[in-house]
Amino acid sequence: MDIDVEDAQEYQKHPVGTVIDISTAFKETATINPDAVMFGSPYVEQPLSAVIPAVLSTTSLAHMKQSMLIEEDVEDELLAPEHNPLPVSSLRTGMCYDVRMQYHDDIHDSTASDRHPEDPLRIYRIYKELCNAGFVEEYEGSKSRTKEELMKRIRAREATREEILLCHSSEHWDRIQRTATMSKQELRDLTHETDSVYFNRESAFCARLSCGGAIETAAAVVEGKVKNAIAIVRPPGHHAEPDEARGFSLFNNAAITARVMQKRYPGSQRILILDWDVHHGNGTQRIFYEDPSVLYISLHRYEDGNFYPDLAKDKNGFANHKSCGAGSGLGKNVNIPWPCAGMGDGEYIYAFQKAVMPIAYEFAPDLVIVSAGFDAAAGDQLGECFVTPAAYGHMTHMLMSLANGKVVLLLEGGYNLDSISRSALACTKVLMGEPPDELHSIYANEAAVDTVHKVVQEQSKYWKCMNPTLLESDGDDPTVARLHDVIRSYQTKQLFEKWGMVKLPIYSNKVSPTYREQAVCTPNMWTAETLIFMIHSAPDVWLSAGALSSAAELHQSYLLDSGSMYIDWAVSNGHAFVDVNVPAMISGPENEGYNIRQATKDLCLYLWDNYLELADAKDIIFIGVGEGYPGIVHLLQNRSCMSRVKGMINFVPMNMPLKAWVHDLDKDWYYLKSIVYTAVDHPAWKTGKKIRRMYGRATKGVSNEMNKLLSENYAQATAFIGAILNKAAAARRGQATIDTSMSAESMADAVRGQDSIDIVQDPETFAVVFRGTLIEHISFRFDLTLAIHLGEVIQAAVCKSSSHDHGNADEAEQNATQSIAIWNRLSTLNFQNSFAIRFRTNQIIDILTDSIRAVPARRIAPQL
Ligand SMILES: [Zn+2]
Repeated sequence: MDIDVEDAQEYQKHPVGTVIDISTAFKETATINPDAVMFGSPYVEQPLSAVIPAVLSTTSLAHMKQSMLIEEDVEDELLAPEHNPLPVSSLRTGMCYDVRMQYHDDIHDSTASDRHPEDPLRIYRIYKELCNAGFVEEYEGSKSRTKEELMKRIRAREATREEILLCHSSEHWDRIQRTATMSKQELRDLTHETDSVYFNRESAFCARLSCGGAIETAAAVVEGKVKNAIAIVRPPGHHAEPDEARGFSLFNNAAITARVMQKRYPGSQRILILDWDVHHGNGTQRIFYEDPSVLYISLHRYEDGNFYPDLAKDKNGFANHKSCGAGSGLGKNVNIPWPCAGMGDGEYIYAFQKAVMPIAYEFAPDLVIVSAGFDAAAGDQLGECFVTPAAYGHMTHMLMSLANGKVVLLLEGGYNLDSISRSALACTKVLMGEPPDELHSIYANEAAVDTVHKVVQEQSKYWKCMNPTLLESDGDDPTVARLHDVIRSYQTKQLFEKWGMVKLPIYSNKVSPTYREQAVCTPNMWTAETLIFMIHSAPDVWLSAGALSSAAELHQSYLLDSGSMYIDWAVSNGHAFVDVNVPAMISGPENEGYNIRQATKDLCLYLWDNYLELADAKDIIFIGVGEGYPGIVHLLQNRSCMSRVKGMINFVPMNMPLKAWVHDLDKDWYYLKSIVYTAVDHPAWKTGKKIRRMYGRATKGVSNEMNKLLSENYAQATAFIGAILNKAAAARRGQATIDTSMSAESMADAVRGQDSIDIVQDPETFAVVFRGTLIEHISFRFDLTLAIHLGEVIQAAVCKSSSHDHGNADEAEQNATQSIAIWNRLSTLNFQNSFAIRFRTNQIIDILTDSIRAVPARRIAPQL
């Protein structure tokens, strides 16, 4: 070991106790830390006081302390702070920047407004931001700071062929080298042929310099010259594949750096590459896919393979959460694939807390390399995400708890010059020791929570810290039953016992055999006048899952089956019922490639062609729940069922777009015949615009849970169906019916001379009928959408009518009394539980004329 003689003498002079032979202690040190011997001491330039703790473990330090101070009972000044600075925090943060990396530029003539996003100015702007913050040694404005408050500059150099070949083919190296002597046209052609990379004659040089800068930066950290570092380099690297330049990347800086560190330093074998660039680092993943020594974790927009780089080439789920590595590298690849744009602080911090950090702790890296693209930053046009500088600081802070703080940030993407410089500054401050700024949004959205959950389940196969563990069954194991099938067979049994419902045979090549168990019908299916067809997702099961595994705590788990309320209602009213369950997954090997939307559509057509159309039923009602909803609309679109389908109710979950349907002859048919209940937070309501009639009568539900949508709207939905059926039946009997499309006069004509009328649920109908026909001048206003039972409706109307009066208090009270009188008479009709009711015409006229006589004449002025 090369020890500064003066420093050693300084120790000898130290006025404490009896000083023992210090070289003995250092021999001991040398055996403890082989790295220090094999690679030369990185500490030579430092005072001895800094060397001791850096190379000694805590126990050997304590040992040395004991042996150095024999018997003397004096103050232990040798280990006092001024002589023994903290080994890591007393080091500075490194920074690599080389202006020559700007030479790589797009040779297409471009104006300021259409510059290529991978702009040479990117690195300059970050560098300048650090200068302005006063962290850069050679910058004039940094003079006021002490050396300890400044970053240590790390010189970039060109990476060697040998280093590049640790990750790339020699053909790739040669191809890049050749660009230095190409003509302008050749460079243009090559740029054109390559997947999102431009070239000029300086590209090869800059790529070597960028990669060499990254290597030197990491080396400075590993050697303890700096505690951590940021490399402001370009061109970026994480898209570069072993044999191909892609996505602005020529050489894979992060991957090559990792390999060089492993080769040079025995103490840097386990390396974490954390990639928070908004794009997936396809190159890095590929290079280490079968390598257990490098853990690659990436957070990126994925969008089912429709976001770069998957979009451009693979489209095979390479960036998806199921890609976990292969061979001995299996489990050392973690993808956190965002399904959409718009992720921000809450989502990134959530992913770090739930997946990134637990896995990183368990991996226990020797070195952390961050592929630090800043294109998920707020303001980046390509990334369309909202990560703030504060969140980048927090992520950096969390990573610094790993690998003894040995963290190296390498710039990747990031195209908004303001965003990248502010983000890089926030990370740098944290690297230097400042706490990260306060976060303002810490809540993850549903899509992110769902994504991270999938990642945790997938990674639970490889990491003990990932709970709950995922049980995967291939469906062939006779001891394992899908709960879905268990529940369906329970439901089928219940429906048989209660209503005699039996299985409806389904045999079709287009329809999966699993569906054979999923459809049941009442025995009167062929003969009943009314047939109700309900197709729905499996009922909700609320599982209380164990903390460690996915095993459910059965006594705390519940089956929520609101769909059965509808069956009970229909069957007890004598209607035929066909109930179909749509499995989210299919048992067995055919689950592969199962597309629930397509399967549901095929099934609906099959059921219509083979059963529904052939039944005697004059009136058919559709109910589509969850995954059943698109099937119902598809059926309307593909079969002419308008004459027999009298109405439908649909329940639409959050993640399902509304489906439009318009018929050439009757544009409003779907609207008038349907209620479409949506999840309360359904995106359709967020546009601020009214939902168009072609989507049916869209109604915002009370919950995002299908089960709650079904139960909360049960009364209104069944009343709607009941009213429609009554109207249809009345029409067949030749009775008068009235509906919203009629004018007040034609309603009056229709009703006059009838023994009774059927009143159909609709706000306008009631108002007009009461105003226009039965009692011509009463100014009732109805708001049926607020009320479920007719009784409540009339009560509401009566109360509103009285409140219309702006007269004195006495009159108001009198009106209220009158209203109550009207209400009391009406309520004796006992129609509270039926929405669609039949009034004896003269009976209601009696009631209302009684009341009208009691009301002052001026208050029954016409309102029409
Ligand atoms: Zn990117």
